[in-house]
Amino acid sequence: MRILLTGGAGFIGSNMARCLLSREECFMVNLDKLTYAGNLGSIADLLDHHRHLFVQGDMGDSLLVSSLFRNHAPSAVINLAAETHVDRSIDHPADFVRTNINGTFTILEAAREYWNTLSGQEKEAFRFIHVSTDEVYGPNEKGEHLREGSAYAPRSPYSASKASGDHLARAYHATYGFPAIITVSSNNYGPFQFPEKLIPLMIQKALRSEKLPLYGDGSQTRDWLYVEDNCRALLSVLFRGTPGETYHIGGSCEKTNLQVVSHICHILDTLRPRVGRRSYLDLISFVRDRPGH
Ligand code: NAD
Repeated sequence: MRILLTGGAGFIGSNMARCLLSREECFMVNLDKLTYAGNLGSIADLLDHHRHLFVQGDMGDSLLVSSLFRNHAPSAVINLAAETHVDRSIDHPADFVRTNINGTFTILEAAREYWNTLSGQEKEAFRFIHVSTDEVYGPNEKGEHLREGSAYAPRSPYSASKASGDHLARAYHATYGFPAIITVSSNNYGPFQFPEKLIPLMIQKALRSEKLPLYGDGSQTRDWLYVEDNCRALLSVLFRGTPGETYHIGGSCEKTNLQVVSHICHILDTLRPRVGRRSYLDLISFVRDRPGH
């Protein structure tokens, strides 16, 4: 199986690359622009792998993307590449529109053109997995579970741009019969995450004895999902998913931000006690809430 993975030098992408290469039948072309969030160090051990081809490039570059389809004839795309940091999207929304909307359109269109050249079993088997986020739904009521088909209500330029990409993928299935599938996952954690995201950020700050800034009163909740579980779910969707469907991938592990950061503090209190045995909890500080949070 030949797979075109986008964003494979990012957090989930580098874990996904490992997951795919662990399967003997998978050959992977890994397209990544290597923005500030991409890190070749995360996949350094995979770069010489005989079933892995790394290509540095922009998924919004239609000539490049079309040539990848022509030259490597993938049987599936897993589209993880995106601008992903909510705070950055508030300061610089244009990058998010460019990659998450225009870039998604470009790769969808190149994939559709390529898919149109296929026939029979190859055409039937082709899949385009578009990876999205639960943030497209906006806030949910306490205890309420999001369902596939819940109404979209994005609250940040990040989530709005992801929602747009989802709508395009869904429309390509409805309009052209293109075999797009959408996965929507909750907050991932695990190895190779860029240290601006909550868990690695708090660990690094704590180890430097810096303040641990929590938005508002820290009572906002996230559902936490281990990244390798997400990758395994993505594989299930790839092999068993139905075109046109949306699949939610959650961890059933909803916690307030304060709970998560306090837990990190307790772990560090044991593993790396501070001088004078003061708890890392003392470093927690509450800061003005994020706009639209
Ligand atoms: P990340 O920021 O760690 O990695 C994104 C990768 O995409 C980087 O390697 C970057 O270089 C690459 N990239 C950015 N723009 C590109 C472009 N125009 N062309 C090619 N490559 C480009 O992100 P992540 O946390 O691994 O998230 C991956 C995907 O999963 C995103 O689509 C994100 O919206 C989605 N998602 C993430 C989470 C999470 O908790 N991390 C949760 C739900 C959904």
